[in-house]
Amino acid sequence: MVQYLEIKARHPGALLFFRMGDFYELFFQDAVDAAAILDITLTARGEHQGAPIPMAGVPYHAAEAYLARLIKSGRTVAVCEQMETPAEAKKRGSKAVVARDIVRIVTPGTLTEDTLLPARQGQCLAAVAFARGGAEAAIAAADVSTGRFELIACTPDTLADQLSALPVREWLLTETGSQRPGMPALQAAIAAPLTQRPDRTATPAKGETLLKDALGVAALDAYGTLSRAELAATALLLDYVLLTQAGADIRLDPPIRRANGTALAIDPATRASLEIDRSLAGERAGSLLATIDCTLTASGARMLAARLSEPSREASEITARLDAVGWFTTRPHIRADVRGHLKTVPDLERARTRLRLGRGGPRDLAAIAAALQGADAAVAAMAEPMDGAPVQLASAMAELTLADHPEPAALAADLARALAADLPLLARDGGFIAPGWDAALDETRALRDDSRQIIAGLERSYAEETGISGLRIKYNNVLGYFIDVAARAADPLMAAPLNAKFIHRQTLAKNVRFTTEELQALAGRISRAEDEAKGRERALYDGFLARIETLEAPLRRAADALATLDVASALGEWAETAGAVRPELADTPVIEAEGLRHPVVEAALRASGEGFTANDLTLDASGLAGPRLSLITGPNMAGKSTFLRQAMLAIILAQAGSFVPARRFRFGLADRIFSRVGASDDLARGRSTFMVEMVETATILSQATDQSVVILDEVGRGTSTFDGLAIAWAAVEHLHDTNRCRALFATHYHELTDLAARLKHAANASLRAREWKGDLIFLHEVQPGPADKSYGVQVARLAGLPKRAVARAAEILAKLEADGGGAGQAGGALPLFATARDPDPGASLAASEPASAPASEPSAAERLLETIDPDTLTPREALDLIYQLKSPPKKA
Ligand code: ATP
Repeated sequence: MVQYLEIKARHPGALLFFRMGDFYELFFQDAVDAAAILDITLTARGEHQGAPIPMAGVPYHAAEAYLARLIKSGRTVAVCEQMETPAEAKKRGSKAVVARDIVRIVTPGTLTEDTLLPARQGQCLAAVAFARGGAEAAIAAADVSTGRFELIACTPDTLADQLSALPVREWLLTETGSQRPGMPALQAAIAAPLTQRPDRTATPAKGETLLKDALGVAALDAYGTLSRAELAATALLLDYVLLTQAGADIRLDPPIRRANGTALAIDPATRASLEIDRSLAGERAGSLLATIDCTLTASGARMLAARLSEPSREASEITARLDAVGWFTTRPHIRADVRGHLKTVPDLERARTRLRLGRGGPRDLAAIAAALQGADAAVAAMAEPMDGAPVQLASAMAELTLADHPEPAALAADLARALAADLPLLARDGGFIAPGWDAALDETRALRDDSRQIIAGLERSYAEETGISGLRIKYNNVLGYFIDVAARAADPLMAAPLNAKFIHRQTLAKNVRFTTEELQALAGRISRAEDEAKGRERALYDGFLARIETLEAPLRRAADALATLDVASALGEWAETAGAVRPELADTPVIEAEGLRHPVVEAALRASGEGFTANDLTLDASGLAGPRLSLITGPNMAGKSTFLRQAMLAIILAQAGSFVPARRFRFGLADRIFSRVGASDDLARGRSTFMVEMVETATILSQATDQSVVILDEVGRGTSTFDGLAIAWAAVEHLHDTNRCRALFATHYHELTDLAARLKHAANASLRAREWKGDLIFLHEVQPGPADKSYGVQVARLAGLPKRAVARAAEILAKLEADGGGAGQAGGALPLFATARDPDPGASLAASEPASAPASEPSAAERLLETIDPDTLTPREALDLIYQLKSPPKKA
């Protein structure tokens, strides 16, 4: 307990997995918590300060599964191992306690195990630091499972955009950093646990030292001048990685530095509302990423996710990516062949990192060989000289052709020959080197196998010698090899002369066990041979590790090239199945789209056998080739939101380097995109729907430039009609006059459509719907000009509102329209800026008319129906009555 409490005190926040023999035991509150989370038995053991100590345990061989659940539930786990065997401890004195120490702290952001990591998703641990009184900010982000390390310099304003572009699983702030304004909002936007660290772990000086150590260099000049914030973030990150890996050699790749401004900026609200890599429900399914992801390798999947999360702003990069995709779209047969090979390629990046961290095993070795050979085969299937291929493919081919890289080629070939067909998880289990690879190993194995043969022969000769036909030679972990005889037949062996040879070992209820000197000698030989074989295998394993170590840089480049190849061919595949075209980059801030479609809605409709209606769109921030701002009206459910979003998704896809679902798509690169779609409550942050809407609108109006693209959907709906209309009106004017960005603005305020006439570069467009036999038919077609009306009441009927409520709504609507003061409906007069507040339409109606239907006056038709007795009517009279009911009512 003294030892336990001492170790526990070092990491009070983590659950302590305390290794005791074959179990990891948890004590005290840790045991109570873990038992509840894992649904395992809570027991008690011993006493501490007069009370029993709660205890729970998990078997060490199954620990990963339990770890996974604890991490998922948001806990961190400190793993404490026995650092010596009980026998070694005994040498220090019979009462000596086995030495134990923490070997690792498992946190959500520092996982490396395949079982704990979703293979196709990136993961990163991100440290955020500030400098120069908060004017400078930086993110240091590392994927511990692949060694990828990025440094992003930014400002506090752009921090949220940058951070939300990364697959953050855990992030770090210093205690002072977390007090900064804006941090609570950032915390709400980043759906990953935040870990606070002491301020002293994030100083620029410490960053410099730790980075030099991690990279094994004496000077950092090669990485350019790192800002104070970058160094502080590096310190925060590396210190935590060292802490959690308990000093294991972390070995991150050299940092990739990214400056502000090379990527398309997307703020967290826009990211969420466009459902780029997660749907609004938080699932991958239904996101843009899930819809277009045809990658076949884990690292390809991670690269595609990273590209979509952070599309580029550099025309040269985008063109290079599109060239690579285009190469594959025009070569379907080659694409199929290449993808056939990629299908078999394992996760090179993660296998390499596990080996480097000493957490790997023979299967990771096999993965490296298979990945290198699979990639080589994939490149061979490209069947064309690399000179003519687009740059990205040419360099991937150059990187992956094994014939040009003798050392990795030799490594892959050697591994393929050296490794056995069935591989154990851990190197210490042995048996992973195939026969024929190493002569010394084969020899010791032969010795072992010979001895086993001899033992098998002994069984026969002992049975003959003793006349006991049931005599068997068996093996168990306690006795090793022994002779096993049924108790009733054992007597002769206990008596002379046989007892001189057969040495009694153990008597059980039904069996008696013996050994002989001969058997003992053989068993000794087998066990020595086994130890020797294992040692030899371990040496061979270490030899491979050392070779992999020296090939670190080429292997990293190969992993990257492999991912590039996978992404390009996967996007080519998707482009063909989705009927997507290559986007054309324009020099001016335009969008010219013909037959544009929403990939996710289209895929969903296709799954249910329905078609998607493609639409055209023209916008030009300069106002020359088309409107700068388009006001979209149309009935509910007509497809306004879909139309807005598909324009945005096209830009994201294009700048990520993908084809776009359209007949033609030409556009000028966007610097930022903003989307405010639908109303969403953010109760967790203590903000009402309307407040959230206004905060997001404020961001857009203050930050959109003439290179940006903005979509706003029903802004101003969260408040009273006139307030909302006034805000929407002002927002449209601001976008048009001040931001001068390409914008789509969907609204139900038909009054706004008048703005198109007043603003030079604004236009109206609407989605068509048709009423047919009282039903509403959505055509999903965008046409120029405003919508004629809202059809809100019809949609309410479609949605199954009670008939009486629908009738009453229609009645109120007619009255509002007749009065002309009803904001929000077509043709309403515009007393907008004269009226400060919206008169509650319900209240004013209630004053002039009874509020509920039953209380209203019966109509002429109802009065007439009252007088009819159907049983006494002749057919002729009935017909007359129908004519009478149909005829226009006479004015009273
Ligand atoms: P509301 O005003 O109620 O928010 P909306 O006009 O924004 O509605 P959307 O949410 O965009 O309408 O679309 C409603 C549904 O119509 C979609 O879920 C989709 O099934 C279908 N839809 C939208 N656009 C199209 C299209 N172009 N082709 C086919 N179906 C479409």
